[in-house]
Amino acid sequence: SEGFSKPAGFPQHKLLGGLLAATVSEETCLSRYQSVAYRKELPHKPSSYLISRLRSYEILHKKCGPRTESYNKTLEQLKSGHQPELSDCSYVVWISFSGLGNRILTLASAFLYALLTNRVLLVDPGVDMVDLFCEPFPEVSWFLPLDFPLKGQFYSFNQSSPSCYGRMLKDSISKNVNRLKPASHVYLHLIHDYDDQDKLFFCDENQDFLQKIPWLIMKTDNYFVPSLFLMPSFEQELKNLFPNKETVFHFLGRYLFHPTNSVWGLITRYYHAYLAKANEKVGIQIRIFDSGAGPFQYVLDQILACAVKENLLPEINREDLITSQSGTKSKAVLVTSLNSWYSQKMRSMYWEHPSTTGELVGIYQPSHEEYQQTEKQINNRKAWAEMYLLSLTDVLVTSSWSTFGYVAQGLGGLKPWILYKPVNQSAPDPPCGPVMSMEPCFHAPPFYDCKARIGVDTGALVPHVQHCEDMSWGLKLV
Ligand code: GDP
Repeated sequence: SEGFSKPAGFPQHKLLGGLLAATVSEETCLSRYQSVAYRKELPHKPSSYLISRLRSYEILHKKCGPRTESYNKTLEQLKSGHQPELSDCSYVVWISFSGLGNRILTLASAFLYALLTNRVLLVDPGVDMVDLFCEPFPEVSWFLPLDFPLKGQFYSFNQSSPSCYGRMLKDSISKNVNRLKPASHVYLHLIHDYDDQDKLFFCDENQDFLQKIPWLIMKTDNYFVPSLFLMPSFEQELKNLFPNKETVFHFLGRYLFHPTNSVWGLITRYYHAYLAKANEKVGIQIRIFDSGAGPFQYVLDQILACAVKENLLPEINREDLITSQSGTKSKAVLVTSLNSWYSQKMRSMYWEHPSTTGELVGIYQPSHEEYQQTEKQINNRKAWAEMYLLSLTDVLVTSSWSTFGYVAQGLGGLKPWILYKPVNQSAPDPPCGPVMSMEPCFHAPPFYDCKARIGVDTGALVPHVQHCEDMSWGLKLV
C-alpha cells in the first residue's frame, strides 16, 4: 500500500483493513465505502501478504490493462498468430457464462489464478455483466474491449475447438505436454462437462506449458479454487496469501465485487425499509433443483423444521393464546426464492398465530421471478441485490447446490445452516446442518493424482480440502 497515498476521509476500516486501495473515488461507487456500515466488523483480517499482492496486482493491471501500450503490443502477437515472444504482460480472459452466482464464483477463481500466475484478468462483458459491479481496479478497466479479435468466437468455444487445451493434448501425437507447440492463445474449457485432458489444467507439469501462452481464454461454471490448493507449485504462495483457508472467497469477494450505485440503491432501500429495525435478521435462501413445477409442501416443511430445530425462528402457538406484545423482540426474515408461495405461507402463519416466545416475525421477499431469466439486466441486478442482502443477515439458511447461497455466505463471512437435498420428494432428516466453513463448494473437481497418473480421492489428500456438506463428490476448503 506504500505506493498509494491515502486521501483524508478514508479511515482504514472503510478500506476493510487495507484490502481495498484508496484510489477510487467515493461517488462513482458508493458501496465500496458505505458497505462497512451495514456489516459487523470482519471476524478475520486479511494477511499483510494478501494486501501487498493486491497492490502489486493493481500496478500490473494498470500497466497491462486494456488499451495500454503493453496490451496493444501483446494483442499484435495474437492478431499475427506468430509464435509468442516473451512479452511483459500475459492475460486470463474470463468468458461470461452461466447464472450470476456461478459467474461471481468463477470470476473470483479466475482472479486468484491470475494472481498466482502473474497474469492480468480481463472480463468479457457478455450481454449481462454491465451495471452490476464497480470497476475493482484503480484507473484501468477490467473489461475486455469490444474489438478484441477472438470475441466473436467466445460463445462457440468448446471442447472441439482447435485451440482448446484438452483437444490440443488429444491431437498431439506424442501426448507429451512438453512437445506441444506454443500458441498465441489457448482456450481453457473448465465447464462441469470437461474431460480428463481438460482437467490436466490442474497439474503442475501442464501449468509449465500454459505459462508460456500470453492469452488464456477461460470458460467455467465452477469455483475451482480448492483444486489450486492441491497443486504443489501454488502451495506456498497460497499459504502466505491465506493463512486461514476458510477466507479465500470471503476476501476475494469483498475485494472484487462492489455493487454499482443502481444496485446499491436496491440494496439500501430494501434494507432500511424492511430489515434495519429488527432485533435479528434471518436470511432464508430457497433454491430448488428438483424436477417438477413446485412449489412443494415438503420443502416448506423442511425449512420450518430446520428453523425451529436450530432455534432460528420461534414455533407458533396454535391455541392462539394472546401474549403481551410490548417490549418483545422482532425478527425480520429475508426470504429469497424464484417462487412467492413459501414466504406467503410463512407470513400467514406468523400473522394468524402468535409465536410461543412472543417474538414478532416479519417475512419479506424482495422479488419472485417465477423462472430463471439470466439474460435480462434488471433481473440480474435484483439477483445480485438479493445475494448481497442475504449476506447482511445475522443468521443464514441456504439451499444445497446453490451458488447463489455460496455467494451470500462468503461475502457475509457467515457459516449458514444448509438445507440438505430432499430425497424422493420428501424432507430429509435432519432437515439441515451446519457447514464446516463459509467457502463455496467446487462441484466438478478432478480426481486425479498428477504425479502417479492414477485416479485418487482428492477430498482425502490434505485436511484443508474436504468433500462438501451438500455434494459428496464436491470439494471445499475448510
Ligand atoms: P444457482 O443456480 O442457484 O447456483 O445460482 P445462479 O445465480 O448461478 O443461477 C440462478 C439464477 O436464477 C440467478 O442468477 C437468478 O437470475 C435466478 N435466481 C435463482 N434464485 C433466485 C432468487 O432467489 N432471487 C432472484 N432474484 N433470482 C434468482
